[in-house]
Amino acid sequence: MRPYDFAVARDVPDAVHRTASAGTAYLAGGTTLVDLMKLGVMTPAHVVDINRLPLRGVYADAFGLHIGALERMSDVAAHPLVQYYPVVAQALMGASPQLRNMATIGGNLLQRTRCGYFRDTNTPCNKRQPGTGCPARTGENRGHAILGTSESCVATHASDLAVALVALDARLALYGGHGPRAVPLAGFYRLPGSTPHIENHLLPGELISGVLVPPLPWARRSTYLMLRDRRSYGFALASAAVAVDLVGGIIRDVRVAAGGVATVPWRLPAVEYALRGRPLRQDVVESAARRAVDGARPLSQNRFKIALVQRAIVRALMSLGGTDG
Ligand code: SF4
Repeated sequence: MRPYDFAVARDVPDAVHRTASAGTAYLAGGTTLVDLMKLGVMTPAHVVDINRLPLRGVYADAFGLHIGALERMSDVAAHPLVQYYPVVAQALMGASPQLRNMATIGGNLLQRTRCGYFRDTNTPCNKRQPGTGCPARTGENRGHAILGTSESCVATHASDLAVALVALDARLALYGGHGPRAVPLAGFYRLPGSTPHIENHLLPGELISGVLVPPLPWARRSTYLMLRDRRSYGFALASAAVAVDLVGGIIRDVRVAAGGVATVPWRLPAVEYALRGRPLRQDVVESAARRAVDGARPLSQNRFKIALVQRAIVRALMSLGGTDG
């Protein structure tokens, strides 16, 4: 690890002020930053500890469910108010207990990709070092994306929580040099295009102060399903975040998003459209799930994800009260 300056932020404006200069990184739970600093993938000259900032708390009001950015994953997953959104609570349970106890909500949403080339400084990688190439396109790409990819990068987005929150139309509260602002999470992440090293629309020095999940009375009927190589501490090869408003066996409204298969959390409006007004039945759901892979571009080792993500969506939806007949 290279030497760096370390400071503890007194309050949010102080943190933003300290981090406005290039080469500065925020430290919250540290589960991404410290790992990547040890590997030499991230080399900030200044690290600003934000753990004392008042960005905590989970509460609900007329605007929805508010979650402070510095809340730990395990605390949020266990919070009574979050149980009204099973898709969120379940998406938070994929990581190991050690990680869940340290990692924060804001950090989770900003975690970096698990692409092995990105984490190996001995290999080229456009995301780590722009313009050097993408060895994953022709190399080890079993875990990589089939949707939202570009010639420059095919890495999957790593956050399960982000997939669940995108399905629920969540908004991010941000705080930067110009004060607070709020943005839809769905528009926060950038497709890799020709600049895969720029992953989101955060401005220099800006931080995530919280998450707002709008009210959704039928979110109780929601779930997050991860399909992965091993049951614990594995990353999703494909996942589905779904919520259904089911009345008399008919889908009045529905939310569907996929993870593990795309370069950003992948909302699926075409699947939702194909489901609205239809019975929650195996054949209906299977037919709708085919739309999930519209535009997919599989690589040499990950064609299996085309079927896998459809199965994840079908299984997740059927688990919410579907019938076979
Ligand atoms: Fe780097 Fe993206 Fe290619 Fe992985 S997929 S090697 S992160 S450019």
